[in-house]
Amino acid sequence: MFDVVELKRTLSYAENALGQLKISELPAYPRNYELWYTYAAGFNHDLNKSVNEILRARGRLTSEETGHLYDQFLSPLKVSDRVEQVGNRMSDEVSEILALVESALGETHTLNQSLRGATKELSRTEDRDTVKAIVADLIATTKSVEANNRKLEGKLAESKRQIDELQQNLEAIRFESLTDPLTTLANRKCFDMSIERELTIARESGEPLSLLLTDIDHFKKFNDTWGHQTGDQVLRLVAMALKQNVKGRDIACRYGGEEFAVVLPKTNSEQAVAVAEHIRMAVMSKELVKRSTGENLGRITISIGAATYREGDSVQTLIERSDSCLYAAKRGGRNQTKSDAGEIEVAA
Ligand code: GH3
Ligand code: MG
Ligand code: MG
Repeated sequence: MFDVVELKRTLSYAENALGQLKISELPAYPRNYELWYTYAAGFNHDLNKSVNEILRARGRLTSEETGHLYDQFLSPLKVSDRVEQVGNRMSDEVSEILALVESALGETHTLNQSLRGATKELSRTEDRDTVKAIVADLIATTKSVEANNRKLEGKLAESKRQIDELQQNLEAIRFESLTDPLTTLANRKCFDMSIERELTIARESGEPLSLLLTDIDHFKKFNDTWGHQTGDQVLRLVAMALKQNVKGRDIACRYGGEEFAVVLPKTNSEQAVAVAEHIRMAVMSKELVKRSTGENLGRITISIGAATYREGDSVQTLIERSDSCLYAAKRGGRNQTKSDAGEIEVAA
């Protein structure tokens, strides 16, 4: 992959990034460099939009703005740090609740003691004023307990709100950690988990399971001709075709750079080939037009390998079979689906 073109392309991003750091008079710390490199490469459209707005207004980025943009767009904290943050806040909330419950229990204990004392005293006295004083005392204690209970209720409601929010944060972190940011498909980690899970289910239930592996045809040439950014748009387009042609428990994933995988539970070879063909046709049916210039970029095609679970398969053997079918589809002339059930091979 690291051929001369790749070297030239990435060096030009690097030079561009260093140039921007000089203009902004910012130290070339990895964070600052990463921000400008990403800007030069144009991977992150939201980041570029925000940077452009500032550049239009003031011509350069301050150190503060750079830090802020980095935090906003370049995934500031590692997932593990963010999970730890949520965990710490969760643990603080639980400690607070425990302290409150303890104080409420203390109050109840005091009330019980007061009640017992009052009962004893009431049985001994017949003096009206003494009875009045005991009752007044009891009322005061009860009121204080009531007030404290209200406080506890309020705090519990607030804690519930906070814990709900923390749970949502955790869910968002989990979602992010399993999603590919460029295409918003499931990422490789999600694929690894899904195929493992589905294979176990297929093995135990006897239901079929199929796997599609997809690779864009002549994508290197496309990138070299039209640029990496336009190439990224094509990745989004292929991702859309995948999303639109899977349903239910199917999982469409970005497997690698320009390779995609689709896990198809409860799907036999014939059905898998049908899904593959829908995806392939959806991709090739789109005429690509460069939005900025209106240039027609032609069409792109994909090749697909389809394999279906066989007794004794492991995740690895299933992937290997899909991969050989993909390779056969490439060798067979590309823009086609090859299945491991040889008799239903489909060619364009
Ligand atoms: P083939 O038909 O045999 O697949 O030819 P190909 O040119 O597509 O060959 P290959 O699959 O080896 O090419 C991979 C190319 O995909 C290299 C690189 O330029 C491009 N690529 C990989 N990841 C990305 C990415 O994230 N964005 C863009 N724009 N291009 C990528
Ligand atoms: Mg490839
Ligand atoms: Mg390719």
